[in-house]
Amino acid sequence: MQKIQMKTPLVEMDGDEMTRILWKMIKDELILPYVDLKTEYYDLGLENRDATNDQVTIDAANANKKYGVSVKCATITPNAQRMDEYNLHQMWKSPNGTIRAILDGTVFRAPIMIDPIEPIVKNWKQPITIARHAYGDVYRDTEFRIDKPGKATLCFTDTEGNKEEQEIFQFEGKGVVQGLYNKDDSITSFARSCFNYALDKKQDLWFGAKDTISKKYDHTFKDIFQEIYDTEYKAKFEAAGITYFYSLIDDIVARVMRSEGGMIWACKNYDGDVMSDMVSTAFGSLAMMTSVLVSPEGNYEYEAAHGTVTRHYYRYLKGEKTSTNPIATIFAWTGALNKRGEKDGLPELQDFAQKLEQACLDTLNAGIMTKDLCHLAQGIETKEVNSEEFIHAIQTRLNELMA
Ligand code: NAP
Ligand code: MG
Repeated sequence: MQKIQMKTPLVEMDGDEMTRILWKMIKDELILPYVDLKTEYYDLGLENRDATNDQVTIDAANANKKYGVSVKCATITPNAQRMDEYNLHQMWKSPNGTIRAILDGTVFRAPIMIDPIEPIVKNWKQPITIARHAYGDVYRDTEFRIDKPGKATLCFTDTEGNKEEQEIFQFEGKGVVQGLYNKDDSITSFARSCFNYALDKKQDLWFGAKDTISKKYDHTFKDIFQEIYDTEYKAKFEAAGITYFYSLIDDIVARVMRSEGGMIWACKNYDGDVMSDMVSTAFGSLAMMTSVLVSPEGNYEYEAAHGTVTRHYYRYLKGEKTSTNPIATIFAWTGALNKRGEKDGLPELQDFAQKLEQACLDTLNAGIMTKDLCHLAQGIETKEVNSEEFIHAIQTRLNELMA
């Protein structure tokens, strides 16, 4: 069989622990036999991040800006225990944080649905994608504990030294006070990423905030989204047959619960943090969540939503065969290959990515699963397999689809 050719390299960001093991298995068994794979390889494994003073993470993010599509393996964010374990020079920052800061994007997370796992919300028939604004608000707040009577004010000083001040509250006793901010630039990027992603997926976009209560802060989010929609996207949405609408966050929550799913739900930073855990739990498992970072310029970075599965890795190091689920990591590869194919006009590459996803779904729907899914599956007889056997079962189905 002739291998499928590529034009532009994918930016490949290797990672750590169990997912690094899966990474190699996926490439060797499910990609390299079929695709003449072109990648620009960056080793984001913790050892190499330490050896390069984390320069490799910055280089990888810049390569994403150059080529436009990357695929990332899960990576360790070091803590005190990792300092000893890996004998690190520094407690390096989260690679995802570094990459997000350089690409300035929005994170889209969506569940992979299969027949034997029914969402807990019984009317959800299609995946719900959460688009989380990953900048500012309570994650960059300033806060005080007030321990005596006094006045709290909010004060802005411009570059000329002019002040604008408002009273927040006159405290008669103890209390708390908090200051938040966001930037029009970041909100604008968030809005554009959401509109582009909705067009890409041909799905409706819903956005909820609390502008009736937060008449300046949340209202600014609402206004920026509306202005960008009206001036840049309305015609494109109409042509694609999809809609955008804004409503109060509590109304959106109620509508989402009653819906059949199938929409993109844009959330402010805190709402996205909370709602993505609710949505992923209701759909089944973190090992079945895809995640993609989309920058305002239309650069894409695909990854799995879960971590490096450390507990399984320690068992693997003892020589055990683990039943770690590779699905989200495989879908990171198919997402990236499909996007590369789309950008470069390579329908064969897109077709391959689609077939590999189909082979995964066929394997799961036949009841062949890793341990994490076996106890969630209903209405079929399941066969628990280890990662190696699972990837092999996918390969068998992929060969049938490719024949
Ligand atoms: P985790 O790697 O997501 O794993 C937590 C638990 O969830 C696992 O022990 C396992 O449960 C289950 N699980 C997750 N993915 C699975 C899969 N593919 N197949 C089967 N089970 C799966 O989270 P963590 O243990 O909190 O973090 C481990 C490391 O990952 C940390 O160093 C953290 O910094 C890093 N991390 C990286 C990313 C990223 O790069 N995007 C994200 C999160 C965390 P059982 O043990 O019960 O089987
Ligand atoms: Mg969270």
